[in-house]
Amino acid sequence: MPGSRTGTATLVPADTRIPFPISDQPLACRTKPALFAIEDVSTADDPRAREKATTEAKQACSGCPVVTECLKWALANPDLTPTGVWAASTKRDRTRLRKQLVARLGADWPGVVAEQERRRRERERTVRVAPPTVRDRAFARLELELVPTRPEPYNPWKQPITPQQAAANRRVLELALTGKAA
Ligand code: SF4
Repeated sequence: MPGSRTGTATLVPADTRIPFPISDQPLACRTKPALFAIEDVSTADDPRAREKATTEAKQACSGCPVVTECLKWALANPDLTPTGVWAASTKRDRTRLRKQLVARLGADWPGVVAEQERRRRERERTVRVAPPTVRDRAFARLELELVPTRPEPYNPWKQPITPQQAAANRRVLELALTGKAA
């Protein structure tokens, strides 16, 4: 069972559209599953014991190499993650996040997210197969220059472009358009 912490079989099927992330690193929730079972922590001796356990589990997740993918998996599989800390989220956090996802993407949000992931992987594959040409890069640069106010965090330059830089960019573009630098 991909996301199981105990390794035991379960009858609850996982949503295969968002698979549990693969990692060659040891995952804290696999090596120390009890750390993440915060609902099992007794508060008889210390009323803040569960709160402390939650903080500890969240810290362990925050250094995990697959935390983002794990969160998507945990949100897409509520029946497999009814308790405990998953990807630094508690049961209450996950319930809130699922409501937000339904409001933003609809009831079948795992399908929407899976499709977005598929397209992203396809784009990355395309870029790997065909790196951008000089012409592509020149167009991308000019496109950025033509946007008068670039919203954060997409503003890569602190200084406005100089006339010399703009002229150099135009020369590159001209070469690219005539096919001499493609
Ligand atoms: S983010 Fe936390 S729950 Fe998810 S795989 Fe990593 S250690 Fe486990």
